Amino acid sequence: MPDGGPNPLSRAIGLLGDEWTLLLLRHALAGSTRYSDFNAQLPISNAVLTNRLDTMVCESLMERRVYQRNPVRSEYLLTVRGRSTWPLLVVIWAWERKWVPEHAYATPPMIHQVCGREMSPLYCCTACKEPVTAADLHTRWGPSGGWSRSVPEVTTRRRSDSRGGGKGPRFFYPDTMAVFGNRWSSAVVGAAFLGAHRFSDFQSLLGIPPSLLAERLASLCDRGILEQVEGEVRPAWKAYRLTGKGLGFFPVVAITVEWAQRWYTSPEGRVLDWTHAACGAPFIGTLACDRCRKPLTGSDIDLSTID
Ligand SMILES: [Zn+2]
Ligand SMILES: [Zn+2]
Repeated sequence: MPDGGPNPLSRAIGLLGDEWTLLLLRHALAGSTRYSDFNAQLPISNAVLTNRLDTMVCESLMERRVYQRNPVRSEYLLTVRGRSTWPLLVVIWAWERKWVPEHAYATPPMIHQVCGREMSPLYCCTACKEPVTAADLHTRWGPSGGWSRSVPEVTTRRRSDSRGGGKGPRFFYPDTMAVFGNRWSSAVVGAAFLGAHRFSDFQSLLGIPPSLLAERLASLCDRGILEQVEGEVRPAWKAYRLTGKGLGFFPVVAITVEWAQRWYTSPEGRVLDWTHAACGAPFIGTLACDRCRKPLTGSDIDLSTID
């Protein structure tokens, strides 16, 4: 990736912050490979399906392989890069299941195949195996970090953030997409995790127009992800902080950062440097089953139950 331009995080959120792409990944992880399978499983138009599959091939999430010549038919096979998105889908599922009960129909229980119990993923430090939250990590921008370069690129056309509106899939996770599927919302939430509170902080860090920032903050408050608090210096200076629900979104943010750093390298170096404060090790995340504490692998869980 070129120096000074959008960094790996910008690229990754631009790509994965799209509900059709996430849905296609989820069906592909559950074993679907053919255009006709995806078409039958999703309320998706041919134009959008073709566009997303092309993007996913172009971004090396999938490989296209011709399995029939006359007429030509292709199948879409996940690459290692595509397959490595499973932890993201699992933590999105877990967050929605815990915090968005009105969509319970879309988040049925998940069974850990190893211990046979209903599980929830724990996001843990690989070095010491302890569960971590945002507050447990020391975070610094790396050489390719910085605010302006981390705002997601828009790689696909996406619907607006209105509740229930738009032409997107009606059964995917609206609260996740309210953060993750909007470039400015994801930047605002990322800034909140890195310590921004005041309106003016968000504005100056992100270089976002004030009217757009006000709208994004209101939308995130409306979803219960941020809450407004009185400013510390003057009451009139409104400040915002992450709620329990917002803080609970941390594994989604962190796994996206890890995925971005694994698959989009920048010649300058990393986007973020993380240390787990408790054990002092450079932080590398891993998912474990909350019941048996064994590390999760992609084959231990049945993603076909996530709808
Ligand atoms: Zn640790
Ligand atoms: Zn287990």
